[in-house]
Amino acid sequence: MGIETLMHITRIRTCQPPCDSPKDWRTSLGQILVAAETDVGLTGYGVGGGGLSAMHIVRTVLRDLLVGREVEPIATRWQEMYDATLAFGRKGVAVMAISGVDLALWDLRAKAAGVSVAQLLGGPRHATLPTYATVWGDLSATMVGTHSAFKLHLGKQLSGDVQPLVDVVRRARDRVGLSVKLMVDAWMKWDVPFTLRFADAVVNLGLDWIEEPISPDDLAGYAELCKHSPIPIAGGEHEFTALAFNALIERRLHHVLQPDVCWVGGMTELVKIYTAANQAGVRVCPHRGAEVWALPALAALDSQPLAESGRPWLTWVGGQPPICDGVIEVPSVIGFGATFAAEVLAMLE
Ligand SMILES: [Mg+2]
Repeated sequence: MGIETLMHITRIRTCQPPCDSPKDWRTSLGQILVAAETDVGLTGYGVGGGGLSAMHIVRTVLRDLLVGREVEPIATRWQEMYDATLAFGRKGVAVMAISGVDLALWDLRAKAAGVSVAQLLGGPRHATLPTYATVWGDLSATMVGTHSAFKLHLGKQLSGDVQPLVDVVRRARDRVGLSVKLMVDAWMKWDVPFTLRFADAVVNLGLDWIEEPISPDDLAGYAELCKHSPIPIAGGEHEFTALAFNALIERRLHHVLQPDVCWVGGMTELVKIYTAANQAGVRVCPHRGAEVWALPALAALDSQPLAESGRPWLTWVGGQPPICDGVIEVPSVIGFGATFAAEVLAMLE
């Protein structure tokens, strides 16, 4: 990259703006805004996860570590944050906190250079990206044409009978025809035998992947699935750091990797994951890739991008390009191009 502007971090603040998220962990440990101010007058913004728990980590360990330090090199700042949280971190909320700070530093790097984050990553290779949306229940006629692909959320408790789920896929395939891609997401609710029975039963229905059928900790299970499933296996939405993804890549435990840039450790980690996966020929399809934070990586680093539509309730992030007729435009912006209303910024502390 070679763009090294001397900037010191003068203040780091964070908040969790209210939004209409589902009343579960996605609210209690929801998305946080991180703002990193500098002595050159630039402020970088990032979004992490982990709610109040992550905010506490930002306001104590990470703030103590970073205020007074140079923004660059970000890779070094990332390692220092990882090391400082090692005793209680490594995965989960601590890495969600680091993600927000890392994205704010990348925003600063791009703003200091006067370019977009996509340009920092080598420049966008695509002007527009196809998008997909997640569907709960049956795919309705009104959804056809709104996205280039659809993912059916089938993360229900096991009943042992795959047929009701196979029927959902069959009805969706009948609805969209053969040219629209379909995937399914089990959100860690299945087991290996159920997944293999399901995969065998839908093999003629043209599924692009089965997502997170089992726990991300069941690596032996994923090895078995990748060996025997006739449908590609996807996962990684609930995995953290490039280190963990390297193991998934080296051991070929997923066919499709789905890191979430706001949780996995930020752009520093997403770039490492893309680099290793591209070298190994493993596909990356970031979780909620259409949000402004991952979009630059899909635009610049992805040979077959498919951008997952963002969280509809994350309305406090401005500057989000709209999805029209199944595609999203890669914006010409400075930094990530995210903007925030005055009342959101007033919550930062
Ligand atoms: Mg998922």
